[in-house]
Amino acid sequence: MGKIISLCKRRGFVFPSSEIYGGFGSCYDFGPLGVLMKNNIKKAWWEEMIRNHENIVGLDAAILMKPEVWQASGHLTAGFADLLVECKSCHKRFRLDEIHEIQHPELNKLTSGVCPECGGQLTEPRKFNLMMRTLVGPVEEEAATTYLRAETCQGIYVNFENILNSMRFKIPFGIAQIGKAFRNEITPGNFIYRTREFEQMEMEWFCHPKEAEKYFDYWKKERLNWYLNLGIKKDNLRLREVKKEERPHYAKETVDIEYKFPFGWGELEAINNRGDWDLSNHSRFSGKDLRYYDEGTKEKYFPYIIETSDGADRSFLAFLCDAYQEIPGGRTKTTKPTKEVEILLKLNKKIAPIKVAILPLVKNKPGLVKKAKEVYQLLKPHFVCQYDELGSIGRRYRRMDEVGTVTSVTCDFQTLKDNIVTLRDRDSMKQIKVEISKLKEIIQKILEGEEFLKLGKLIK
Ligand code: ATP
Repeated sequence: MGKIISLCKRRGFVFPSSEIYGGFGSCYDFGPLGVLMKNNIKKAWWEEMIRNHENIVGLDAAILMKPEVWQASGHLTAGFADLLVECKSCHKRFRLDEIHEIQHPELNKLTSGVCPECGGQLTEPRKFNLMMRTLVGPVEEEAATTYLRAETCQGIYVNFENILNSMRFKIPFGIAQIGKAFRNEITPGNFIYRTREFEQMEMEWFCHPKEAEKYFDYWKKERLNWYLNLGIKKDNLRLREVKKEERPHYAKETVDIEYKFPFGWGELEAINNRGDWDLSNHSRFSGKDLRYYDEGTKEKYFPYIIETSDGADRSFLAFLCDAYQEIPGGRTKTTKPTKEVEILLKLNKKIAPIKVAILPLVKNKPGLVKKAKEVYQLLKPHFVCQYDELGSIGRRYRRMDEVGTVTSVTCDFQTLKDNIVTLRDRDSMKQIKVEISKLKEIIQKILEGEEFLKLGKLIK
């Protein structure tokens, strides 16, 4: 994990928040490459949901909502609380499930447990609410307390009727949303895996109760395939059925998609059958009847909700970990191995932050630099490009491999004569010759997955 964190910092993917002040809790900032990559993940998710399904629409609800929403959702009551124990000696707090894993195979033996830090005696478990409180209003004494949302989906449920009416939908249909969520986690950690501010990509599928099982199954498969299609290795993914006692308060049934992170298997996404928990509670608390009326069957009922709840940050981490490779001695087989370890980030083309690097062979020949900059200007409106002239060409290729750049364009002395450049493929390191006038079209094909070697003349 240390190597991933170090790459993230070194190459502008992720920085600790407020670093010049010593960092801030478990908060992180996404740097220039990080934001490109995270946006690519969010775009891939959004396209999958909205473009590939005719009956799913998007929403961007406010983060702040009336506190009643959180009463109705069960988040302000015991439902959204972690069980904690405190050490009577060092006063450190631990999540019950963690202590349980560390030393007590049976939950009821916990109270006799000892602190994993100092060996002190632990207190009885008690609940700790995870909602982040804030004040809304300019004058503190008069301001109302509300909460930063702990999950994005509540904004979807309270808009159920608005969307149903404005889009003239019939059940089944889905509403998708991407946005920030906040939880006062007791034990954040493992880099961006568990933080107090994070981003969710959630889709809520409204269906007839009798069809809930069918759709639960459908979404489980769809979501697993999404990761596989974006190149995550099959062996690093698994579905885990979540037992009743572990499930969130709203869920009738939960399956987690887990990823094998360097620190062990961890939840990437939850698929929940939330039954009618949300709509029936919002009806009760708001006094608005949120039942759906089926004109065909004359039936009035609360739709069941099948939810797919994905963390953008956890997906980001999984894509990074999965793509990360170290090659001792370097990738080139034609020259002697070096002492260096080379890093290759074999990211899926859709996820990679930079698509094209443009490199003059050397930087001290003005003609070459001028040509390479022209190529850069030509491609920049169409792809995320980076121009780089610093260091030897081999070193620049390695720098691009380290951040997963899909392809590199090199302008050499021959280019000045014939307008033909060298295109290098990240994964195979193969190189082909391509006319500048055809570059855009060929790079487009590479990004769409066409076989590299079919697109130009191979350089032996
Ligand atoms: P965990 O038990 O790992 O804290 P959870 O079961 O509380 O997760 P859910 O409530 O099911 O998580 O949230 C859905 C998704 O949102 C998770 O699968 C994860 O991808 C993301 N998520 C939840 N909490 C966090 C967090 N603190 N930091 C980053 N992502 C999170």
